[in-house]
Amino acid sequence: MPVPGQSEERRVHLVGVAPWRQAVDFYYNPDDDLDLDDLGFTFPARWAAGDLFVVVTTDSPSPAVIVVETTHHDSSDPDSYDQYLGPFDHGLSVAAVERRIGTPLPSAPATLDTASGERLIAAISAEEKSPTPWRELDERGCVAHSEPVEPYSRCACCGEWADEAPVLENHVLVDTQELEFFGYGPIVVCLTCHDLLHRPLAPSSDDLMFGFRPLCPRCSAMRTCQVVRGFPAGPPGPGTLLVGCDRSDPVTFEYRCGACEYEWTDDDDGYQPLPAEFDDDVVVRARIAPIPDGVYRPYSRTGEPGRVVIGRYAPRGPGPHSAAWGDAIHHELVGQDGRIYLVDPTTVRSAEPHTWETRQPWTGDI
Ligand SMILES: [Zn+2]
Ligand SMILES: [Zn+2]
Ligand SMILES: [Zn+2]
Repeated sequence: MPVPGQSEERRVHLVGVAPWRQAVDFYYNPDDDLDLDDLGFTFPARWAAGDLFVVVTTDSPSPAVIVVETTHHDSSDPDSYDQYLGPFDHGLSVAAVERRIGTPLPSAPATLDTASGERLIAAISAEEKSPTPWRELDERGCVAHSEPVEPYSRCACCGEWADEAPVLENHVLVDTQELEFFGYGPIVVCLTCHDLLHRPLAPSSDDLMFGFRPLCPRCSAMRTCQVVRGFPAGPPGPGTLLVGCDRSDPVTFEYRCGACEYEWTDDDDGYQPLPAEFDDDVVVRARIAPIPDGVYRPYSRTGEPGRVVIGRYAPRGPGPHSAAWGDAIHHELVGQDGRIYLVDPTTVRSAEPHTWETRQPWTGDI
């Protein structure tokens, strides 16, 4: 249906984008240290002001629309685009759009005739409002080839056991990296993780598994190993470290960073409280402060409130500009990863874990 006020001759172009992960970062990720070096768009040769660009990933496991943009300039002018629909952070399924319009889309770059273009835009709007369930498309054949899952299984991604997540299903792995990581396929996943894995621009199943774990407090690496102590019944599985039981250790590390080898536990009580006064070169541990009311901060795992970070605590008091900035003290922490974090001052502790000597006097206290 034509949009009121829109020229009837507007054309719709398909624009290719790759690599798709960088495209998602480009439109969505607020972090400032992104690697977008390889990001490339393929445009048709000509367009007019007011035309629409449907930006489609060309290298993702299933092709996805990432955004629809428009421009005030024609192809002879410098680039400047406005978002018209989206961006869709997890992608909008091209297969679902093709099912709605009843015909496959040409591969990008391409320019559609006016009628096909309007049908495509209408289908994208409809899909945005009410996405087609992936089970109806079943592009990987997970539904078609489903087999019963053995009892006493757990979700390979979030770790829920069958009794906590009553239904587990098989998820077919198609990516060689995923197959190498898990060493087998299909993997067993819960319904929630299965739905996440079937979003058009989904994380790989190994990335989803690591997504349930905290980032490294020291270097912010995403891939952190879970430490399992003792003698579990089965093999520990990928991303898990099996260590012997050392009962003399007062702190039980839960995680180990695969990148910098830092070991830590999420339990704040495992770390020594700081004296009232301490040198500013003391390495501390703290949790990122909640986002204040009325402040918009797009989602970023690195800056996620509550995340543990370690570094130098450097609170800044109300300075000469306090009238403009309010009287609040800025509880800054200069992270060992080089980033500056605003932390919750009540969570600041020494980054040194308790030893038996330091832990004893505090037992029963606080
Ligand atoms: Zn799960
Ligand atoms: Zn699946
Ligand atoms: Zn690390």
